[in-house]
Amino acid sequence: MSASKKILLGESELPQNYYNIQADMPNPMLPPLNPGTMQPVKPEDLTAIFPMELIKQEVSKERYIEIPDEVRNIYKMYRPSPLYRAIEFEKLLDTPAKIYYKYEGVSPAGSHKPNTAIAQAFYNKMEGVKGLTTETGAGQWGSALSFACKQFDLKCEVYMVRISYDQKPYRKVMMNTWGAEVIASPSNRTNSGRKILEQDPNSPGSLGIAISEAVEKAATTEGVNYALGSVLNHVLLHQTVIGQEAIKQLEMTGDFPDIIIAPFGGGSNFAGITFPFLRYNFQEGKNVRCIAVEPASCPKLTKGEFRYDFGDTMGFTPLIPMYTLGHTFVPPSIHAGGLRYHGAGAIVSQLLKDKLIEASAVQQLECFEAGIKFAQTEGIIVAPETTHAIAQVIREAEKAKIEGKQKTILFNLSGHGYFDMSAYQDYFAGKLQDHELTNEQLYSALKELKTPLAV
Ligand SMILES: *Cc1c(COP(=O)(O)O)cnc(C)c1O
Repeated sequence: MSASKKILLGESELPQNYYNIQADMPNPMLPPLNPGTMQPVKPEDLTAIFPMELIKQEVSKERYIEIPDEVRNIYKMYRPSPLYRAIEFEKLLDTPAKIYYKYEGVSPAGSHKPNTAIAQAFYNKMEGVKGLTTETGAGQWGSALSFACKQFDLKCEVYMVRISYDQKPYRKVMMNTWGAEVIASPSNRTNSGRKILEQDPNSPGSLGIAISEAVEKAATTEGVNYALGSVLNHVLLHQTVIGQEAIKQLEMTGDFPDIIIAPFGGGSNFAGITFPFLRYNFQEGKNVRCIAVEPASCPKLTKGEFRYDFGDTMGFTPLIPMYTLGHTFVPPSIHAGGLRYHGAGAIVSQLLKDKLIEASAVQQLECFEAGIKFAQTEGIIVAPETTHAIAQVIREAEKAKIEGKQKTILFNLSGHGYFDMSAYQDYFAGKLQDHELTNEQLYSALKELKTPLAV
């Protein structure tokens, strides 16, 4: 046994800027539309819930946006994050491919999500905001924002989907520990919540309902804004610290990736690791393949349509040009809760439409098998979301073996799975299954969509 290799950067190498791919994309993304007027969204449409700096970042074409010192100082608690060469995993797969992974599980909340939560809390604080609301499913995003708010002395109110609130209490306790108030959604604090409870007092809730509650609370409370953990351009932007660090770390090894792989929910960690490398494709003639991996039970990238759709189930958000299965699509309940989202960010959607990135869908049993192989060689038990990337890494490593090619693969280890042991428990108990969706199940929400195609 020779241990896998850890490649570290010093604090001074932490990126100074976020990388904004909107400066370099061959085709710009289409503008989001105001559903009332069907005209492009104006900044004033968003000021009730977002600070001006984030609204600016949403549409900025500047290639580099400086990371504020206050944000970099908090990043230094866990960044630069380590890059590993997965030597033991390579041996197990008996592949000629070199496999590297960027480990984002070292953050306080255990995933990449604090990279944007810290920045969002800071920009809100700078503009005099006193508190933030948000929603959370299994709790990854809620815990990241709770931690970030505490760093800047902001109040944090998290609407947590009722069924997760009851079944997964540990993430809730984590949020409470960082000072956040966690409310089971639907709740009687908002009109949206009260309406649902009237119809069904025992409603298990959904992410869509929780978003509606958090947005309503922010829009109607003075000094309170709303924060989103994926999908929006500014969220993807903040995650680019991941790829920028990986570029420096790989330089130290002399390798450059042929393939980059990341799990895909709304696109933030995928964007974070791939966008800084895509700049080499756009500007320096490189040809890195970037593969987004989604669950076969929620295949918006591989089976969805590129069209305008709402970001939430209730239809409160602007219309976003994206690959979607329809905002009323309800995916089967798999354990990778962070990937159960009907749509995808506008920038990633445009890149996919232009064939500048690729997508792949994987069933959950293949994912858990992959995650267990990885844990047994590399030691880290990864989040169910992350197992999707590892399953794709195995597919590519096997292809390299058949072709006899010396490929370099980099993947984003988006988070650890130490709060998801019940998922592994269900896998070992044989309770997990694959989900083959019929065309009826896949396309019924899309059929109901009256919104325009994005062309
Ligand atoms: C939230 C989450 C994801 C998916 O979200 P993206 O915005 O697509 O990155 C993936 N992995 C982990 C560990 C997560 O918490």
